[in-house]
Amino acid sequence: MVQETRFEGLAVGGQRIASSDGKTAPTYNPANNQVIAQVAQASAHDVDQAVKTAHARFTAGAWKQIRTRERGQILQRIANLIREKSEMLAQIESANGGKPISAARGEIGAVANTFEYYAGAVNKIHGQTIPVNANGTHMTFHEPLGVCALIIPWNFPLVITGWKVAPALAMGNTVVVKPASATPLSALALADLALEAGLPEGVFNVITGSGSVAGNALITHPLVRKISFTGSTEIGMGVMKQAADGIKRVSLELGGKSANIVFADARLDTCIESSLFAVYDNAGQDCCSRSRILVERPIYDEFVEKFVNRTKTMKVGDPTDETIEMGPLITPQHRDSVLNYIHIGDSEGAQRLCGGDVPQGALANGNYLSPAVYTNVTAGMRIMQEEVFGPVVGIMPFDGEDEAIRLANDSPYGLSGSVWTRDVGRALRVARSFETGMISINSSSSVHIEAPFGGMKQSGIGREQGMVALEHYSEYKSVFIAND
Ligand code: NAP
Ligand code: MG
Repeated sequence: MVQETRFEGLAVGGQRIASSDGKTAPTYNPANNQVIAQVAQASAHDVDQAVKTAHARFTAGAWKQIRTRERGQILQRIANLIREKSEMLAQIESANGGKPISAARGEIGAVANTFEYYAGAVNKIHGQTIPVNANGTHMTFHEPLGVCALIIPWNFPLVITGWKVAPALAMGNTVVVKPASATPLSALALADLALEAGLPEGVFNVITGSGSVAGNALITHPLVRKISFTGSTEIGMGVMKQAADGIKRVSLELGGKSANIVFADARLDTCIESSLFAVYDNAGQDCCSRSRILVERPIYDEFVEKFVNRTKTMKVGDPTDETIEMGPLITPQHRDSVLNYIHIGDSEGAQRLCGGDVPQGALANGNYLSPAVYTNVTAGMRIMQEEVFGPVVGIMPFDGEDEAIRLANDSPYGLSGSVWTRDVGRALRVARSFETGMISINSSSSVHIEAPFGGMKQSGIGREQGMVALEHYSEYKSVFIAND
């Protein structure tokens, strides 16, 4: 019996529709490279329709004029539905993104928390009255922008969709989301849930398709007022240039090459387990991955030995297996790109102590790779400078605080990082000197929905999460009323 492949249409104006030219593309399961759905590929015409729909809903006040309590309640109902359907969403995210199912469940919980956080924010956004040197009253309002183009990468598809959609909607905007070609399914499922939650039609649209056609048509559309892009620095630079036409507002969350600084007084066992997670979580395909480990010389040998031993026991396998620690990489092409970095690391003279191999046998059909640890690295090597976006880490020694800071800052990126020490003063000094948007002390994560997330230098512009994200989806309006 031939099994029909499921079809996923674009989500525009409250409908699920085929693309105008009927074009589709398959989407795959990275664990076995089998097709799991055929997905509509939006043409420039389809993108134009989606943006015009979102713009018409915005100008008609279909969303922004709904009273604040009701808008908050709708966002809360989206959060509730995400929780109700969390297993379905986790299965999609795991099957389409190659994520261990346990990790996918955690991510769906985070998406619900994001909508809940911004549900509560809707009626807490207010302006100021400002004493001015004139006879009258001056006040400010936070106005929504209009149609927001939200471009999503494949590594945390629904988490990042939530980080953009929830604050954009909380401010009263309408949105058109473009998920990554590799992982289009969860954003479409979320758009369906939002309708079920009572979000008016056409407020939250999803167009699937390639970056070069659908993505480009979206960011260059004259009715788009804001672009929020998460992806590579290379594509982000192009997005920023294109945003110049029309003076579109732009936020960028880009690549990273974060440092993990371990001082000799660190609690080593906790630090090693956490440092492992910091680089191998999501198979290393994490913008915050701390893939440069800097270890103070007195404990360098001990750290390397323990880290390598634990890396060798990492359980790489099928994402449906609850006990695995690492799933496959997203596509065969992406694994090739990571394998190329293994080749580069080897030929630059770094010493590969383990990993970098393609598992055979039961895992041969998926995009698996065993995690690789390099030592004998120098700061200038490509594997220490460029974002590999896979389970590859370089460990190097340092002497003293100043050298640690200098090495940590020797990067075009500045997204994330960690420092491990029991000396509070030193921890704060390093945190303040480190040119990075986020840093965690004695922890491998600094991602919390209540707090700003984003990078310095070439890691981006703007911040997501927390109340600050709302500023990126709104505009100050300044109003003066004369007294007479
Ligand atoms: P990418 O290749 O830059 O793509 C990101 C998104 O942009 C995808 O939806 C892509 O569509 C789209 N796109 C591609 N070309 C475009 C164009 N010309 N115009 C408009 N959109 C276009 O990044 P990725 O490979 O999906 O994700 C990995 C990268 O994202 C890494 O560099 C990682 O560090 C970064 N990232 C950063 C953060 C952060 O918060 N800082 C978070 C996660 C990931 P297609 O998929 O169809 O090409
Ligand atoms: Mg890409």
